[in-house]
Amino acid sequence: MAGVYVHIPFCASRCSYCDFFSTLQLEQAGADYVEAVIAEAQLRRLELHGETVHTLYLGGGTPSQLPLQLLFRLVAGLGECFDLSGVEEFTVEANPDDVTREWCEGMASLGVNRVSMGVQSFEDGILRLIGRRHTAQQAVEAVGRLRAAGISNISIDLIYGLPGQTIPSWTDSVEQALALQPHHISAYGLTYEEGTRLWHQRERGEVTEVPEEQCLEMYRILVQSLQHAGYEHYEISNFALPGYHSRHNSSYWNDTPYLGLGAAAHSYDGKVRRYNPHDLQVYIDKVMAGETACEQEELTRWERYDERVMLGLRTSQGVDANKLRNDFGNEAWRHFVKMAQGHITAGNLSISDDGRYVLTRDGIMLSDSIIRDLMWDD
Ligand code: SF4
Repeated sequence: MAGVYVHIPFCASRCSYCDFFSTLQLEQAGADYVEAVIAEAQLRRLELHGETVHTLYLGGGTPSQLPLQLLFRLVAGLGECFDLSGVEEFTVEANPDDVTREWCEGMASLGVNRVSMGVQSFEDGILRLIGRRHTAQQAVEAVGRLRAAGISNISIDLIYGLPGQTIPSWTDSVEQALALQPHHISAYGLTYEEGTRLWHQRERGEVTEVPEEQCLEMYRILVQSLQHAGYEHYEISNFALPGYHSRHNSSYWNDTPYLGLGAAAHSYDGKVRRYNPHDLQVYIDKVMAGETACEQEELTRWERYDERVMLGLRTSQGVDANKLRNDFGNEAWRHFVKMAQGHITAGNLSISDDGRYVLTRDGIMLSDSIIRDLMWDD
């Protein structure tokens, strides 16, 4: 099984906290870009070694900015390169203000069965402050339109620790998200990425960072509220109603190969990581000239061990110590078990009946430092 990811690097405007690769050049470059992605799919289709494509994910940037005829052309072009008949989950990321009735119907007719929406907050003042173009009401209406078009598998993204956010206002955003009954919720703590508009605002003292203890409290509230509402906390930042884990994102965490197409996309085939350039024109020129645009890096055994530990511990599946021993040998296994011991004693790690090491609820709050301890190269 394999996943295909396509990066759509266009946004209508830049959000102040964002350091993802995206541009505002949709009008000038959108059509050429779509042709380039199809050309890249032709060039790299054999990298999937005949594996069935089971998930397709259009992420960004803002895929919902792409005009419908370009989205149709993109999916038709991908269908000429890959057998998409086995796709179980076809996700498109969207911003709420793009989710019109026409867009929803277009997605349904393309076979999209999951939409992941960047809502981030239900406070209009905060949304304006961070440069989002939508309002809370638009997010609510977007969910209604998706459902009316038959797309019920909806994921909502939220951010905690935003400037101006308080414990009551965050609690309210979580409650408003739950009131919409999405199948899936992802929530991330804000990071001030160097060079972003928000980072400069903090440097100039125009915004104040939410204290770390308050961010932890927001995360606790999130976990408690969502678990109480029946969501499974299956990855540190991801929650789903039973049966609605993101299959595509799960492939990043469980070593399933994926092919990433488009500028700035990454790929992984179990051993080699490939990275496409963060430059729209370089990407388009290269693939249209018949060359793959990616750089590649073969991971060492210890780098793969570190990834297994880091990604595994982020999930509710944890790390299977027996498999770790089989895949990486006794030295790695001994290191893992020895370093885990103190965290087990402290109640931050537990071992399941089938030998999986899983972070406890307390351990999740300390995940970064525990993961660092268990990695080989810390
Ligand atoms: S819409 Fe998404 S990708 Fe675009 S600037 Fe905002 S956060 Fe970044």
